[in-house]
Amino acid sequence: MQEVILLKDGELILKGLNRPQFEHKLFKNIRRVLQNVGDFSIEQAQSIVYVSAENESAFLDIAYKKLQKVFGISAISRACVVEKDMQAIEKAAPLYLEKEAKGARTFKVAAKRADKRFAYKSPEIARKVADAVGEVFPHLEADMKNPELLITVEIRDTAAYIHGNSVPGAGGMPAGSCGRASVLISGGIDSPVASYMMARRGMGITAVHFATPPYTSPRATTKVMQLLKIVSVYSGPIACFVVPFTKLQEQIRANCREEFFTILLRRFMMRASTRIAIAQDCAALITGESIGQVASQTIEAITCTEAASSLPVLRPLIGMDKEEIIRISRRIETYETSILPYEDCCTVFTPRHPRTKPRIEEVEREEARFDFAPLLDEAVQNAEKTVICPE
Ligand code: ATP
Ligand code: MG
Repeated sequence: MQEVILLKDGELILKGLNRPQFEHKLFKNIRRVLQNVGDFSIEQAQSIVYVSAENESAFLDIAYKKLQKVFGISAISRACVVEKDMQAIEKAAPLYLEKEAKGARTFKVAAKRADKRFAYKSPEIARKVADAVGEVFPHLEADMKNPELLITVEIRDTAAYIHGNSVPGAGGMPAGSCGRASVLISGGIDSPVASYMMARRGMGITAVHFATPPYTSPRATTKVMQLLKIVSVYSGPIACFVVPFTKLQEQIRANCREEFFTILLRRFMMRASTRIAIAQDCAALITGESIGQVASQTIEAITCTEAASSLPVLRPLIGMDKEEIIRISRRIETYETSILPYEDCCTVFTPRHPRTKPRIEEVEREEARFDFAPLLDEAVQNAEKTVICPE
């Protein structure tokens, strides 16, 4: 029996005249995800994308799993393709859906007739298929409101398609369809989740990571790369810039008041990231900040960090609890890597009593205690670029 994967467009449906552009990106992303899985044909009719294997070397099972991580898709199902003949459809439905039917107690059949030349109308098709399935699986009871198994029969121009329950797609907008932003990525739990969330809204991702060797271990940077590799499965390839921040941090420590260390470091991170972001055509920065989570994330501290960047700073986690963030990180599979013990910020530079309500005038006064401009230039110039691609 020939099988295809059906993908339902998500929010693209709302995009009116711009829709072709979004669909173009979605197709490109689908092709990218399937490039090593075999030869597939990808076609679209109305708001459904049909992915079918061109030959036997294409693995539908793998494709089905991979497509569940592609943004811009609201639901995914596997369907069998049947000739447009009522008897053939009645025969194929119980055969193709055997496993699902055995596992369910209630069912319903919905039919859609896109090809109006087909001799039977939708309610008749649904009734006939329901009878055929009910005959083979007499334990199944009809439930029109909340069926455990929803069987859908679609009569299209070229063929009929039969499928059982859909699984949810990754939602959001096609990666890369809504501009590009640069994420300040640490090895923690939050910033990978923040990257994922903005990629889900269709943003292409560039990453900036600050390293403080020899105070921080090279394993911390490796860990960041591993995290970005997981994020890239969703977002597509990510260019990551690792910026050496040791000299700058040492100068902060030598010249400034300890309680301001963290907020000063954050502001220098913002400045360096803004420069890299602009050079990389990014329209915004992304951070994993969440109000009140730590001393540097009070609204007063965020006001001071924000003032150091001329770009909008997107903080998708700002109103979320740690528990909610952890739940997402488990789901997207960054959690296990994030909790590995290699710290990316050394305790040598962490103040014992950080200022929780810094005022911008005070912070600027601290910054004026040393000439940071050449150090910042040097750090940005020495940033090392690595392009990270999904497996
Ligand atoms: P995360 O879990 O993302 O590390 P966090 O809760 O540990 O966040 P902070 O350490 O205060 O919070 O960092 C706040 C944000 O600053 C991070 O989410 C990240 O966007 C950015 N950031 C922190 N450290 C670095 C770093 N070494 N390189 C790049 N960005 C960083
Ligand atoms: Mg952190």
